[in-house]
Amino acid sequence: MRLFSFLRGKLKKYDDAVNFTCDICGREVFDGARVCHPCRGSLPRNAQNICPFCGRKVKEEGVCLECKQKPLSVKKARSVFTHDGEAARLVVRFKRGEKYLYRTLAELTVPLVEREFPMCDAVTFVPMTKRAEKKRGYNQSRLFAEEIAARTQKEFLAPVIKQRETSQQKTLGRADREKNLEGCFHITDRKAVKDRRILIVDDTLTTGATVSELANALLRAKAKEVYAVTFTSVANKHPFGLPPQE
Ligand SMILES: [Zn+2]
Ligand SMILES: [Zn+2]
Repeated sequence: MRLFSFLRGKLKKYDDAVNFTCDICGREVFDGARVCHPCRGSLPRNAQNICPFCGRKVKEEGVCLECKQKPLSVKKARSVFTHDGEAARLVVRFKRGEKYLYRTLAELTVPLVEREFPMCDAVTFVPMTKRAEKKRGYNQSRLFAEEIAARTQKEFLAPVIKQRETSQQKTLGRADREKNLEGCFHITDRKAVKDRRILIVDDTLTTGATVSELANALLRAKAKEVYAVTFTSVANKHPFGLPPQE
């Protein structure tokens, strides 16, 4: 099975224009979609009981505890799926070398972007430090955001750099993560940001601290409003919003 997905990954790199097999189960698809119908139906939709601000799944309807304590700097965040099952696996595969999956994530995310974020006229991503990007070989958030921008006809912006590495303190809650991230983003193109309604695109939202810090930087550069969309988000079932296991 592992060998199979490895080979599939290798082959996919050359399979650019048309898709023939489902990116999840490998079954043949005939309509050019990246994911077959049964797999699409089995993905964990993040539809009911979500926090109206951060968009994470909550146990009871209403604003989540973390947003009650301190709202995110984005006006609204939404995610297509909860970080479970095959949706979570797609994110892990995407970050671990299966670069071509940006199209799959985008295909499944575009309807949500069109429904929830028609007001946004520009799209951006979460930058990585040069070193981290070199290590991975690509920035998955950027690939994903570029594809979303192209498919929704919004302008793609790259106005921010990440100037220092932040330690991965996975067990921290939002407030501590925010402290850890403070000042890590630097705006290099203020003109591109000014007066725009910008949508940040990323693979996963954990506590939302990262998109919030990025939104702070964009807002300081006079962006009009900042929103966020992610492929998955971690359900808010733990008191401190424990992040996913990678
Ligand atoms: Zn499938
Ligand atoms: Zn919330």
